[in-house]
Formats: sequence, structure tokens, C-alpha cells
Amino acid sequence: MENKGLIFVISGPAGSGKGTVVKRLREIMPSIGLSVSATTREPRPGEIDGVSYHFVTREKFESLVENGEVLEHTEYCGNMYGTLVSEARRILDAGNDMILEIEVDGALQVKRIMPDNAVAVMLIAPSREEQERRLRDRGTETEESIAGRVARAEEEIALADRYDYVVTNETGKTDECAEKLRAIISAEHSRYERMKPFVDEYNQR
Ligand code: 5GP
Repeated sequence: MENKGLIFVISGPAGSGKGTVVKRLREIMPSIGLSVSATTREPRPGEIDGVSYHFVTREKFESLVENGEVLEHTEYCGNMYGTLVSEARRILDAGNDMILEIEVDGALQVKRIMPDNAVAVMLIAPSREEQERRLRDRGTETEESIAGRVARAEEEIALADRYDYVVTNETGKTDECAEKLRAIISAEHSRYERMKPFVDEYNQR
């Protein structure tokens, strides 16, 4: 896949508040594209097919994988999730940066496939207590699902050293957190290796 924009992989272990922060980031950076993943999970109340996720059956998901239509995929708490190649093409071919809101396993796959174009950011709640409180407050998960997600979050946070950035999402400070992400995106575009073509051309004149 030819990459024009950069890929910002944002992993927010359960309870990090990632959804709210990414929503705010997209308001302040409207040009950035959000890839809509495919999942076999049941929609939560208010989730819209094609907007929140492409909700598919397990059979359909398996055929997407077999036909090479997903960039990465993983199983998370009993459901399959994957990034569609078509979504990535739509955003990157238009020359825009792309956000992938995905868990750690998928994030590491993307870093392996596109080491030069993918930047991985892990978003973490300010404390474990706060993380669990946020999960319960959402009110959409069963106790079993909460326990599974908390356990998975612990495994994910243990892999923070594989990420390029770690950002804490303090309670009530969504704007500040989104600003930190904006600063990262801006700085990544200014890295020497990405600016080298400009510098070379500048020097030739
Ligand atoms: P949820 O069920 O809460 O919407 O998502 C569960 C987890 O799956 C979250 O960590 C979310 O970021 C992750 N996720 C969503 N879409 C994808 C995807 O396409 N690939 C991977 N690897 N993870 C995903």
C-alpha cells in the first residue's frame, strides 16, 4: 500500500477514555481520517453500523481475512476486530493522516508492516481505580466483560514499552489530552527523515 499520510495508531486499554479523546482530536483536526474497523461484536446501544464499526458475522470476518481485505486483525475478549484495507486506502490515498483506534496486538502488527509510517501512542487512565470506575460508569458492560477488559488492559499496559508515546488521560481534561495528541502528530511530521525530501530540494536550488 502506498502511503501518503501518516498512520497514528492509538491504543487505549479499557477505561482509558480513548473514544472521547479521539472524538475531540477529530474536532480540532478535521482532516485526519478515522478508519472504521470490522468487528464480530454485537453493537452497543447507539452504535451505528458503518460509523462505529462495520458489524459483521464471524463467517464474513473470516472471509475478509482469507481474501486479504484486512491490514491486521485480532481477537479481543471473545470477538474479532480488524482494520479494513479499503478504509486505509480511502484515507491515505486522499493524502490524509489516519487514526487507527486499535488494541495492542493490532498496533504491533501495523508497526511491523509499516515501520516508517506508523506512530504508536498508548493512552492510559491516570490510575487503575479511575480506569475501573470509567468502565463501570459506561454501564454497557456486564461484570464478566468488565473483569475481562480490566485483565486485558493490564496485559496491554505491560507492553507500553513497544509504543512511541504514552499519554495519560486525566479525568475532565479531554481537551488537554487531545492537544497532546495534536502536538505529537505535528512533531512527527517535522521529523528530519520525513522533511528530508524538502531539505534536499531546498539545497539543490
Ligand atoms: P470495543 O469493543 O470496546 O469497541 O473495542 C475493544 C478493543 O478493540 C479496543 O481496544 C479497540 O481499540 C480495539 N479495536 C477496535 N477496532 C480494532 C481493529 O480493527 N483492530 C484491532 N486490533 N483492535 C481493534
